[in-house]
Amino acid sequence: MATATKGTKSIKGIERIVAPPPVHWVGDGFRVHGFLPRGPLNAERMSPFFLLDYNSKHIFPPSTNLLGVGPHPHRGFETVTIAYHGKVAHHDSMGGGGVIGEGDVQWMTAGGGILHKEYHEEKFNHEGGLFQMVQLWVNLPAKYKMTDPRYQAITNAEMGRFELPEGGVIEVIAGDIDGIGGPASTFSPVHLYNVKPKKGEETTLRFPASYTTSILAIDGSSSINGLQLPADHLAVFEDDGEEIEIRADEDSVLLVMSGEPLNEPIAQYGPFLMNTNAEIAQAIDDYQQGKFGYLE
Ligand code: MN
Repeated sequence: MATATKGTKSIKGIERIVAPPPVHWVGDGFRVHGFLPRGPLNAERMSPFFLLDYNSKHIFPPSTNLLGVGPHPHRGFETVTIAYHGKVAHHDSMGGGGVIGEGDVQWMTAGGGILHKEYHEEKFNHEGGLFQMVQLWVNLPAKYKMTDPRYQAITNAEMGRFELPEGGVIEVIAGDIDGIGGPASTFSPVHLYNVKPKKGEETTLRFPASYTTSILAIDGSSSINGLQLPADHLAVFEDDGEEIEIRADEDSVLLVMSGEPLNEPIAQYGPFLMNTNAEIAQAIDDYQQGKFGYLE
């Protein structure tokens, strides 16, 4: 259980503040800073989280070409897509599809395998505009890696709302805070929040010391346990202490990620995240044999 109450427990150390890494493109629709995995912030260190791609604020011009990334498979983990500005659409080889609206989240369990495309929603693509989104990959425990694929489409209105005393709010996507739960169902303990304090507002979060915890500043600059976290920067916490004290310098949006490490072997190749090299070889073989389905 995560809590926001003030207490006397120890402050969580900050291991590092990471500046936005150089931009790379995912297809032609996602202009991302690849925060994870990177250097020491690898799959083992950041478990259960694996990849964090952040499309910082970018204005896309109107386009007649549909911008995005073409058909690709996933197996062994979940993708969590958070649309802060703009709209993302997707469809898959099983006939599933949908639109992730502004402020909404899609929690996709790739499980045993999915083949999909991700692109800008057609009207947004046609008109262009401000785009800002996050994609976070959450690893699956070994026993759930081959579970059936599923989607959880989570609208902003469905998120848990923990009201802060000076007008801010914490939107709970997954996990809980002081008994207010988020709608996402997860396979291992994960807390995922949008913390949205008003200028000057303070709040304290608390997570178990052993949980892998980080904060991405989506909007605004804040003081986090006394260190400055500018917009578009990532704070990665030590696995010690429990409390995170936030003081917003301006109206801010902070994506808070905290999860219990899986402590299982990790084997990764491209879009496959398994426990052994044999399972990776199997995934590649299954993909090449068309077992993920077909998609143009
Ligand atoms: Mn994908």
